[in-house]
Amino acid sequence: MHHFRYTGQKLHCESVDLAAVAQLHGTPTYVYSAQTITDNYRRLAASLAGLDVQICYAMKANSNLAVLRLFSNLGAAFDLVSGGELRRVVAAGGDAGRSVFAGVGKTEAEIRLALQTGVFGFHVESEPELARINHVAGQLGRKAPIAIRINPDVDAKTHAKITTGKSENKFGIPLEHAAEAYAAAAKYPHLEIKGVQMHIGSQLTSAAPFVEAVAKVVPFALRLKQDYGITYFSVGGGIGIVYQDALASGDAGWWSAKSEGERPLTPEAYGAALAPLLAPLGLKILLEPGRFLVGNAGVLLSRVEYLKRGAARNFLVLDAAMNDLVRPAMYEAYHEVVPLLRDSARPALKADLVGPICESGDCFAKDRTLQTVGEGELVAFLSAGAYGYTMASRYNTRPMAAEVLVSGSRFELVNARENFDAMVSGEKIPGFLST
Ligand SMILES: *Cc1c(COP(=O)(O)O)cnc(C)c1O
Repeated sequence: MHHFRYTGQKLHCESVDLAAVAQLHGTPTYVYSAQTITDNYRRLAASLAGLDVQICYAMKANSNLAVLRLFSNLGAAFDLVSGGELRRVVAAGGDAGRSVFAGVGKTEAEIRLALQTGVFGFHVESEPELARINHVAGQLGRKAPIAIRINPDVDAKTHAKITTGKSENKFGIPLEHAAEAYAAAAKYPHLEIKGVQMHIGSQLTSAAPFVEAVAKVVPFALRLKQDYGITYFSVGGGIGIVYQDALASGDAGWWSAKSEGERPLTPEAYGAALAPLLAPLGLKILLEPGRFLVGNAGVLLSRVEYLKRGAARNFLVLDAAMNDLVRPAMYEAYHEVVPLLRDSARPALKADLVGPICESGDCFAKDRTLQTVGEGELVAFLSAGAYGYTMASRYNTRPMAAEVLVSGSRFELVNARENFDAMVSGEKIPGFLST
C-alpha cells in the first residue's frame, strides 16, 4: 500500500495536491509520504511479531534527516555504512546505540567515531577489518561489539549490481571460512562477539533466496550461540517493491493484478517464510530493510521542458535528469511516470523520456506510452523514495533537488534546493592561476 492516488484529476500524496507542492517549491523535487513509511514499517514489524525483532532501517536508501526522525519516532534503529551516516543518525536524534555499522571499507576514523558514539554492532566483512577494529578499540580502552557478515553463496536472482550474496561478490566471509574468522575474532582482546550477519542483495521479489540463505546460516548461528554466546542474528535487507504499475499497487493491495511479471514479496509472506526458521534460534533478529520501507513512499516531481516530436521517435524532455534519479541509467531500472493532471480525453503519447544532460544515457525510459503532456506540465516518477536523492549528483552543475515531506494535509520542505553558491563553496582558484 501507498498513499499516492488521483482525487478527481489531480495526483495527491495523502491529502496534498502534488501540483501545489511543485508550484511552491519548483521541480525537480522529491516528495515523501510519512503515512506510507509508517504503514510499511508497522506492517513489516507485524510480520515477525512473535520474535524479538529490531528493525535497523538501511538509511543509505533515503537519509534525509526528517525521514530519519520519522523512523526514530516509530522505534526504528539504523543500518549505517559511513561516518557521515552515523553523524546523520545523531543529528536526527536517532538511537545510535541500537544501530549497526556495515560496509567493507570502514576507515580508522569511522571506527573511532562509532566507538565513541556507541553502536549496537560492527558488521565485519573481513579478517583485516577485525584487526583494525580491535586496534582502534584498544587505543580507546573499549571493547567493540561485532558480528561477522557471512556470504551464504546464494543467488538472489536480482540485478547484477545489487546482488551481494554470491561467492564472487566482495561482501562478507564465505560460510566455510566463517568458523575460522570467529575463532580469530575471539582471540582479540578488544572485540566482543555479539552476533552474526548476512545480506544477500536488493530488490528480491521472492522469499525463496531468503529462505535458502537463512537455512544455510541457521546451524552456524546455533553453534555461535553455544561457543560464543551470541545474542543476535541479522538477516539483512533486500525485500523488493513494485515498480511496474506502481500507482495501481497503492489501491489494489501490494501488487496490481496487471503486473504479472513483478509480484513483489509481501512482508507477510516474508515473515511467514522466515519465522519458522528463526524462532527456534532464541536470538534477537535484526532486519535491515531500506528499499521496502521508503521506496514506494516517494515520488520525484518533474516539469516537461519540451515535447520534441520526430519522424522516428518523440522525446519528452524533462527538467529532471540522471543526476537526480540515476537508477534507470545505472541499473536499467523501471519507474512508472504519470501526469499530475490526469485527462482521459487526451490522446496517448509514445515517447522516450529524457533529461537535459549531455549523455545518451540520460534516458529514463524508451518508447514509453503515457497520456500526452506538453511544455510546462508536471509529471511524477513513482517508487522513487529509495536510492533516489541519496544517489543523486551535481553532474552538469545541476543543483541537488529539493525534498518535501507530506503528512496528511500538511507538507513541509525538508531539504531546500541547492543554490549555486553552495555548489561551488568548497572550490577556489589557486594563487598560481590568479594573475
Ligand atoms: C543496502 C543494504 C541493506 C538494504 O538493502 P535494501 O535492498 O534497500 O533493503 C541492508 N543491509 C546491508 C548490509 C546493505 O548493504
